[in-house]
Parts: sequence; C-alpha cells; structure tokens
Amino acid sequence: MFDVLVVGGGPAGAAAAVYAARKGIRTGVAAERFGGQVLDTMAIENFISVPHTEGPKLAAALEQHVREYDVDVMNLQRATALVPAGADGLVEIRLANGASLKSKTVVLSTGARWRQMGVPGENEYRNKGVAYCPHCDGPLFKGKRVAVIGGGNSGVEAAIDLAGIVAHVTLVEFDAKLRADEVLQRKLRSLPNVRIVTSAQTTEVLGDGHKVTGLVYTDRVGHDAHRLELEGVFVQIGLLPNTEWLKGTVELSPRGEIVVDDRGQTSVPGVFAAGDCTTVPYKQIVIAMGEGSKAALAAFDHLIRASAP
Ligand code: FAD
Repeated sequence: MFDVLVVGGGPAGAAAAVYAARKGIRTGVAAERFGGQVLDTMAIENFISVPHTEGPKLAAALEQHVREYDVDVMNLQRATALVPAGADGLVEIRLANGASLKSKTVVLSTGARWRQMGVPGENEYRNKGVAYCPHCDGPLFKGKRVAVIGGGNSGVEAAIDLAGIVAHVTLVEFDAKLRADEVLQRKLRSLPNVRIVTSAQTTEVLGDGHKVTGLVYTDRVGHDAHRLELEGVFVQIGLLPNTEWLKGTVELSPRGEIVVDDRGQTSVPGVFAAGDCTTVPYKQIVIAMGEGSKAALAAFDHLIRASAP
C-alpha cells in the first residue's frame, strides 16, 4: 500500500516520485518503460541549465535521481485499469500482469505518443531528419528545407514557427483544404518561404542511408507522384495521450487528455495527473517535470487534509 503511487516513468512521473519521496511518504512508480519519450530522442537543447544533452542520458539521470530516494520502482509494468477509492479510501491500479496496487493517492503520468504516418523511411530516419516536435528540433534545421505533414492547427503553427528558422517550408495536407483556424491560415499564407500543397498523400521519406534527402507524395486528384528535395520532415498529424485505459473512469477531453485543474486534480478524488497525458498545453520535458512536481505536492496536500482529526 502506498501513500502516492505514480503511474508512468517519464519526466512527469520521475518528478512526481522525487517530490513525493522527499515528503517521507510511501511512494511507488509503476511504468511500462521508465524514461518515456525521452528515450526516443537524441539531442535535447531546451532542458534549461543544460545546453545540450541526449535522450538516453537524461532518461538514465531521471531513474538515478528517483532511486536516490526510498521509492519502489516497478519498471515494465503496464496499468490496465483504475478503480476509484471505495470505503477503504484506497485507489486501485490494476496491472497487465494480473497484480493490483493500492494507494491513498495516485499521480497519472502516462504521457503521449506522436501519431506516425506509417510510410517507408519514417522510422528509419527518425531523429535523422524525421521529427515530431518543432519546439525541440526546429533549430537543428536552421537554413535548411523542411516539410510539415498535416494542416490542422498544430501543423500550421509548426509551419509558421519553422518558417522563421529554416530556409523553406512545404506544408503537405491530405485533405483538399487546411483544417487550421482561419487566422493561422492567413498568417501562413502571408509568409514568403512557405508553399502549401493540399490533396497530397505522403507515401515515402527518402534518405541516403544516414539522413533524410526528400519526400514523395501522391496528388490525390491527378494521382501522379511528386518528389520534394529537403532535409527535414516534421510530422504533425496528432499527439495521442496514453489514456485509453482510463476511459469511463477519469474525465477525458475530446482529444483523450486527462482533464486537470491548476493543481493537477482529476475528476476522481485522490487522483492527480501531470505531463503530456493531460490537458495542460505545450508538451515539453520542463513542463512535464513542473506539472509532475505540482501533482505530487497536491497529492501530499490531499493526504494531510484526509488524515486530519
Ligand atoms: P512520457 O515521456 O511520454 O512518459 C510516459 C511514461 O508513462 C513512460 O514511462 C511510459 O512507459 C509510461 N506509460 C504509458 N502508458 C502506461 C501504462 N498504461 N501503464 C504504466 N506506464 C505507462 N521535449 C523537450 O522538452 N525537448 C526536446 O528536445 C524534446 N524532444 C523530443 C523528441 C522526440 C522524438 C519526442 C517523441 C519527444 C520529445 N520531447 C521533447 C517531448 C518530451 O519528450 C515530452 O514532452 C515528455 O517526455 C513528456 O513527459 P511525460 O512524463 O508526460 O510522458
């Protein structure tokens, strides 16, 4: 039985665990893959006070920091269900291996995953020209040519952002028109180094074995294939929160994000959430860490109020 059980071991979960453990309360972390998305990235240049680090290095440091404290780290454990507290006041987390964990409070920090195009070359050139986060990787493409895949709000925002850094942006949208807000579309169309291609289905990311060299798309009207020469491809077709297992138990937004208040409290008493799996905007490491710390402090606050005579 825990006082605080953290589900997820990315930056948000690691921060929540450290903050909870420092209160001297029984803390556990159950994570499918300790480190989270940080394990999937190489260069990290916006982790404030550390000008440059690499994903696997930061992930190892996260785990090392958590293990400095008396935290029960349960790695390779996937949560499959949350049962709100009953008369015993304990929230239950059921795991895929059949076990179940009970805790007075829970911090959900299961993160998110970028929706992929699923075309040849995308995985092969991930971190070698294929990118998903313009705030993270935009500056790596300074002066180069890139494509942004997706004409929703995130794709158009990414294209506007990147146009200020790179030499040229081609925005590639599957549909016949962009779906982004009109004000964003107007801004995009006003930029001299942006080309918009609609009704275009990306079919392949091209490379030379080391890095991206181009992109192939099919015109969905004329059915002919086109080739773009470029150095980077930003995929902006959706960020999927890892919250499928919470449907029907915890309030989720239409996008599947856990709805939290400004203390990380969810719709279920004693259950808090932090990081990319929540409605908090801008999915970044420092933001996830801040939110994780906040959720742990809110959980502690909940515990001292619940145990007051
Ligand atoms: P995550 O890192 O997604 O961690 C989620 C954790 O929950 C993992 O441990 C996962 O295994 C676990 N989990 C998921 N489902 C379950 C379940 N059902 N049961 C148990 N555990 C579960 N941000 C930056 O600030 N700078 C960058 O340079 C940067 N580069 C990036 C590059 C790439 C390629 C990617 C993909 C992301 C990048 N980001 C970057 C974004 C950043 O990694 C995320 O914002 C951050 O990791 C979010 O932290 P989190 O703890 O909320 O979630």
